[in-house]
Amino acid sequence: MRVSIRGAAQVLLPPEDGLPYVRRAGDMRLEPGSVTIEDGVIIALEDDPGADRVIHLPGGAIVPGFVDCHTHLPFAGWRAEEYEQKVTGVPYEEISRRGGGIASSARALAAARDGDVLAQARAVRAEMLAHGTTTVEAKTGYGLSRDGELRAVRLAREIGDRVTGLFAHAIPEGHSAGSWMDEVDSLAAEAHVDALDIYVESVAFRNEDLERLGEIARREGVPLRAHVEQFNTNRSVPVALAAGARSVDHLACLHRKDLKPLAGAECAAVLLPGAEFLGAEELAPGRALADAGAICVLATDCNPGTSPVLSLPLIIGLAVRRYGWTAREALAACTHNAAWVLGYDDRGTIEVGKRADLVLLDSPVEHIAYRFGRNPVTEVITA
Ligand SMILES: [Zn+2]
Repeated sequence: MRVSIRGAAQVLLPPEDGLPYVRRAGDMRLEPGSVTIEDGVIIALEDDPGADRVIHLPGGAIVPGFVDCHTHLPFAGWRAEEYEQKVTGVPYEEISRRGGGIASSARALAAARDGDVLAQARAVRAEMLAHGTTTVEAKTGYGLSRDGELRAVRLAREIGDRVTGLFAHAIPEGHSAGSWMDEVDSLAAEAHVDALDIYVESVAFRNEDLERLGEIARREGVPLRAHVEQFNTNRSVPVALAAGARSVDHLACLHRKDLKPLAGAECAAVLLPGAEFLGAEELAPGRALADAGAICVLATDCNPGTSPVLSLPLIIGLAVRRYGWTAREALAACTHNAAWVLGYDDRGTIEVGKRADLVLLDSPVEHIAYRFGRNPVTEVITA
């Protein structure tokens, strides 16, 4: 079936075809036009009067399907009571003593049946799709035991287009960081995930564990990703770059000396403004990273603790306001560059021959951030 989307006010196009990612997202083109697709592939950047279906989009925009490259799906339940404690000033140590935090999500996951976990995750994915997200990464991390993490891999495969093994998320009881890293090593060998990830923070893993995970990732032939510099400046970015990481995620407390090397590296800066906003965290230097030519990426960090957010239009709104980004920069960050983080070269841009994952907006792209919190998606087309 051939579908033609006709007469959009804006079509978001890359600076040129065939680029793996874009460092200067201001060069993205926004032009009036039409797109024709057939059998899940973009076949022309023009109207086809003979198409089986014609969609008129006057005043609207066509952008690539959003790619959410950092989520913590699947998880069981939410932690709304903890959010209320947090905003009313209960210290994290106290929340943790009352049974909150990652441990609480781990208990919930362990207690839930597979079917219930998958039903919740599928409902979240359906809402993500309604907000334009066509590709989703899923992570493990709430298993917190060998069997729990292997189960999380299995469940994540049902939910995500890509599965990241965040085996080093929190240190399970009875383990030290070092002894759990031995388990991480064997989990990585056994689980065959698409990428490996680690949470480096004073309450979790250390730079030396990140270095070790880099070696494990190299041995397994999968990309290394890392949660770094979220609450403290641990100078993990140089360690991640030396280990050849595909992405460093969070960066709210990025050390100023690490900005330039990161911007020059073939390593994405994955910014998570939902977690920054809801957690009243520091703000990642989004404007400076973009100006320095970093491969900038946005994601929801969808998780029941720090960022129960599933809408990338909302994340775009936060990034535009808080980082001082243009709509083009924010869009490139959750389409083209996010696809590169997940190792996809068949999606993320509107080019002839790419997958027909398209989002149709009822208004120009500048409205996504400006009419904050509104869902501008009128239709999502997936290959
Ligand atoms: Zn995360």
